[in-house]
Amino acid sequence: MVRDLLKDGEVGRFFRGNLHCHSNRSDGLLQPDEVVGAYRDAGYDFICLSDHFEAEYGWHITDTRPLRDEHFTTIVGAELSSAPWDERDAYWVTAAGLPLDFEAPPADGHAGAIRRASERGAFVIMLHPGLNNLPLAAADGLPALDAVHAVELYNHNLAVAAHPDGANGAYMLDGLLEKGYRLLVNAGDDAHFGHPSDRFGGWVEVHCDRLDPEALLRSLKAGRYYSTQGPSFREVLLDGEQLRVETSEAYAISLTGGGDRWQSGQERTGEEGESITKAGLRSRPLPRLLRPRHRRRCRGETSMEQSDLSLTHTESDRVLRSAVRIC
Ligand SMILES: [Zn+2]
Repeated sequence: MVRDLLKDGEVGRFFRGNLHCHSNRSDGLLQPDEVVGAYRDAGYDFICLSDHFEAEYGWHITDTRPLRDEHFTTIVGAELSSAPWDERDAYWVTAAGLPLDFEAPPADGHAGAIRRASERGAFVIMLHPGLNNLPLAAADGLPALDAVHAVELYNHNLAVAAHPDGANGAYMLDGLLEKGYRLLVNAGDDAHFGHPSDRFGGWVEVHCDRLDPEALLRSLKAGRYYSTQGPSFREVLLDGEQLRVETSEAYAISLTGGGDRWQSGQERTGEEGESITKAGLRSRPLPRLLRPRHRRRCRGETSMEQSDLSLTHTESDRVLRSAVRIC
C-alpha cells in the first residue's frame, strides 16, 4: 500500500500562504487591505494577518473577512504572547483561526490565551524563538507549551534584518522533538512592511480541496502542508520500503533523523551543475535513524516516529530550504 505522506490522499492543490504578518492595527506600517493587496499581488492565496493581541493595541483582533474574494482568503488570527514582552522567557505564537470576540487574558496570565486559542480550534505556531534567544533549557517551564502545534523554523524578517542568527528556530524545534513533543514545521515572514525586503521570503504551501479558511485550518492541523523558502515538494510517497520524493529542481534531497552523523546518508545530487527533481530514499533506515528518544507519545496514541525531509536548493549565494514532517 502506498501512503501519501504529503497530501494524505486528498484531492486538491497547494495554496500558498503566510501565517505571520502585521498591519498598522498593531506595529506594522500598512493598512490591513494594503497588506492583503501586497500578498495577493505577489501570488499568494491566503494570509493570516497576525496583528499583536496585546493591551497596548486594545486587545484587538483584526477583522480581515471583508478583504476576502474569490481568489484570495484570510484566516482570522493574531499574535499572542505567553507573558509581558520584557519577561526573560516570554514566547510568541500565531494563533490562526480565532473568533473576533476572543477575550483578553488576565494581566497575570497571558499564556492562558494561548491555551484558550488552541481549545477554540486555532492552529498555534511558536514564533521566532531566536528573537529573544529563548533558551531550550526553559522549555519545561514554558506555560501552555502543549497547546503549540508547530514551531517557526524560519523567520524572514529576522533573516533580512539585523538579527539573522535569530531567524533559525531549528534549535528549539529539534530540542522540543527530542523532549517528546510532536510538532510541525513552519516558515513565516513576520512582515511589518518596515523595510523593502521583510516579506515574501518564507511561507507555507497547504494542500486543500478548496480555498476556504476552515478547510485550510484542517489541512494545517493535519500536517498536509510544507514550509519553504522556495523549493517545492510535489509528492512524498511511502511505497513499501521506498520513500519516493518528487520536487521542483533541487540541489539535494535529504532525509534527516536523529543521531546519525550524516543526514541518513541518503543525500542525492546530480552531476555537477545539474539539479534533480526526484529521489528514491530507502525508508528502511528510518527506524534505525529514529532512536528511542525520537519516539514520541501524543494524545492517546501509543507512539509516533518522526523525521524531517528537507530539500535544499542554491540560488545565487542563498540556501533555500523547505521541510515537511514525516511521521
Ligand atoms: Zn510578529
